Amino acid sequence: MIKVYLPINNNNIDSYFNTKEASRDITKINKAELDKIISLSLGSKFSDYEIAFEKRSHGQYIIVETDSEKKWITLSADYTTVPGDGGSNNAYFVEFIPMAIASYYLDKTSKAKSMELYLKGTNHNRAKTKGQQFYYRLAKTVGIKILNEFDFETEIRKNISIPFKSIEEWKKARKDLSSANRSNKPSYIIENGDSYIFYGKTFGANGRESIFILYVLANLALKENKRIFLYEVEDNGSLYLESSSSSREPRFKKILKDLNVVYYADSIKYVENEEDEDISDENKDSRCQAEFMKNLLYKYNCKRDDKGNVIFGKNGKPVIADDTKRCYLCHCDIQNLIIASHIHRICDINKLEIPFEEKRAMAVDADNGLWLCANHDKLFEYGLIYFENNKMIISNRLNDMQKDFVQNITFNTSNEEIKENLPMITEKTKSCSLDKDFYIDEKDYNENMHKYLEIHKNRVLK
Ligand SMILES: [Zn+2]
Repeated sequence: MIKVYLPINNNNIDSYFNTKEASRDITKINKAELDKIISLSLGSKFSDYEIAFEKRSHGQYIIVETDSEKKWITLSADYTTVPGDGGSNNAYFVEFIPMAIASYYLDKTSKAKSMELYLKGTNHNRAKTKGQQFYYRLAKTVGIKILNEFDFETEIRKNISIPFKSIEEWKKARKDLSSANRSNKPSYIIENGDSYIFYGKTFGANGRESIFILYVLANLALKENKRIFLYEVEDNGSLYLESSSSSREPRFKKILKDLNVVYYADSIKYVENEEDEDISDENKDSRCQAEFMKNLLYKYNCKRDDKGNVIFGKNGKPVIADDTKRCYLCHCDIQNLIIASHIHRICDINKLEIPFEEKRAMAVDADNGLWLCANHDKLFEYGLIYFENNKMIISNRLNDMQKDFVQNITFNTSNEEIKENLPMITEKTKSCSLDKDFYIDEKDYNENMHKYLEIHKNRVLK
């Protein structure tokens, strides 16, 4: 026997099927559309099923249960019934889907579970925007079937046919999309060894959208055998995900934890011997690393005006121009190769007889770091290159051929067009590249950085 569960108190579902009235008099149900959806879901024509009502308002989904399967079918809003332009992108289906995900994910049935999506008013322009198509692709990436995908024209079906294979692929697609849609809230993602670090307040226009996106990305990360560190950057004293995932919607916190997403809140002060059992040493280290990388992004990847001044966002933090890590010395941007490299090493900082808070401040200080590729990181680590003030020196421990090699891989970006667009290059460094000497750009070089570079130099020249 097939059983269909309908929520009574969800306004949209009520408007589609007349659930409030039908819960008192089942003959009042709008059965034609329900038959259509269930037939699409089960793959052949069905009109004989039992209807049960749930006193639920959250979650714009219905549940279809057969002997062997249980399906959560989310229904979109219907913009054709709303006068004017319709609604925002995420109000179509994205903000409804997290509730279905939570119910689906936490349900303990032994039947085969799946999630599906039924779209209303697919001929409305707002159902066909590039942004909406991006969400359809995200849904399909986690196996959410769109029951009436055939309602769309071929081109849209083609655009959404291929699921995302990796987070990098998603990141690129999002970048292409956001250049057309500037309303996206700032968030950035960095690949770091066997993990990804996500920074931001939310990862979409609102918290619900963020939960959907995180769910998809966490699934992608699992496939890549990577974990996600979610580092929520405080914005005007509030942390959206922290508050929405812990108090209002605690289920999401559990789901994200199950999916190996580790959450860090920006504002939580962090002290030694903290009696918080949740924080393992490994997580403390990765949190510190996440913070260090965030600070490097603010220093080296921020937007600047024509005069080279940092552009700040409304939240008082630098606007990130681009979350691609690039080697400071050669501009290599192969993400797996780029390391957040410390100038004054962590292992040396740890040996200092100073309070823990001061050590930690040094460990996350952007002036104490550079993005370096694997080659430059090792050259720097072993002292085969070091800095005399802001000028790079190649160690005499290398022979002439080796020195030439280092010279050739340092600042050898020959593509002028790329160079024009790199955020860290100013007129000064451009001209420096001609005489082959490498200088740290004056906008990046300061007393504080000088102090760290001297410590490095003294260590390697010893
Ligand atoms: Zn490099």
